[in-house]
Amino acid sequence: MYSLFDHEALEAFRTEHKRQPYRIRQIETAIFHQWIKDIDEITTLSKDDRKLLSDTFDVIPFTCEKILEDEETTKFLFRTTDGKVIETVLMYHYHTNEDTGVIKLNRVTLCISSQVGCAVGCIFCVTGTLGLLKNLHRTEILAQVIYANNYLKQKLGKKEDGSLWSVRNVVFMGMGEPLMNYPNVKKVCEFLSSEYYFGLSSKRITVSTSGVYQGLEKFITDNLPVSLAFSLHAPNQELRAHLVPMAKFYTLDKLMELMDEYVRVSDRQVFYEYVMIRDENDTDEVAHQLGRLLRNRRGHLNLIPYNQNPAIDLHESDPEQIKRFKKIVESYDVTVTIRQNMGRKEKSACGQLGYEAAQEKLKHATSDQPKQ
Ligand code: SF4
Repeated sequence: MYSLFDHEALEAFRTEHKRQPYRIRQIETAIFHQWIKDIDEITTLSKDDRKLLSDTFDVIPFTCEKILEDEETTKFLFRTTDGKVIETVLMYHYHTNEDTGVIKLNRVTLCISSQVGCAVGCIFCVTGTLGLLKNLHRTEILAQVIYANNYLKQKLGKKEDGSLWSVRNVVFMGMGEPLMNYPNVKKVCEFLSSEYYFGLSSKRITVSTSGVYQGLEKFITDNLPVSLAFSLHAPNQELRAHLVPMAKFYTLDKLMELMDEYVRVSDRQVFYEYVMIRDENDTDEVAHQLGRLLRNRRGHLNLIPYNQNPAIDLHESDPEQIKRFKKIVESYDVTVTIRQNMGRKEKSACGQLGYEAAQEKLKHATSDQPKQ
């Protein structure tokens, strides 16, 4: 099967079947602007052409196995053709009108996966416990966005201005380390930022990395029109290598040099992500180190309270300590936000993707143990 995201394959198909060039535009408009996920929904094509097309192409190269939802998030579990599970999360951001007190949906963010599992092995993340199972192909990454937009179309319909609800921000913060699957991630970023396809601005696409030199160097050279988030989690090499085992191979000094290089080349700030784990990386002393590391750097620090996971014996920092930590870092003239946790109820929150798979693995490991 070819993917309808493959413009060249579609063009070759059109030539072979002697169809008019405008047919391509009709198909791509249906996918990228009307968010159809089934060829049969392309009503601008005849029934015979839809049949012909669906014998050769598909739109969504996976099946949706489960949808878990709460007020803040929708988590999709997709099954790939080779049997792996991809997790993708929609996050709903609301706005309260201060005069009337009316709460309205303001925007939707989509957290997408670039791999199944992850090789980085951060000690606080359940995806890391699965190991790397697969690099996702660009069609499997793009299809997450199309599927989510199709879901929003069904669920929310049109906005007050008459346009369809769709994801406003896309963040590569789902399963996997995006820069370890760079060729596919790069292609997806090009699609997302292209006016012809998704037309998202650089502020609305964020690639998040735990720090992989080679990938970062390519990312900086390519100067993709997207934002960069660096999962810092610790202000010194020793603590970082403990929390992010792969960091043993990539020193923090060199990574910070690359962050400076990124700011210089792109003229954008870096978003520093910092998961707050009680008694691990949340002390006053660490806050001072972090302040010293980030002062005079163009960036924004996000503090993320740790989300609980099966078989990971860590705890979120005390809310009072998070506030104190924030104040200390701010005293170094660093901009800091405490990130609101979303999706804990359905295990869709940061670091929780793969929760069900990890729980399953744990169950098997326990039942395989010899009885005393
Ligand atoms: S936090 Fe990100 S980089 Fe670390 S193990 Fe999880 S998915 Fe991989």
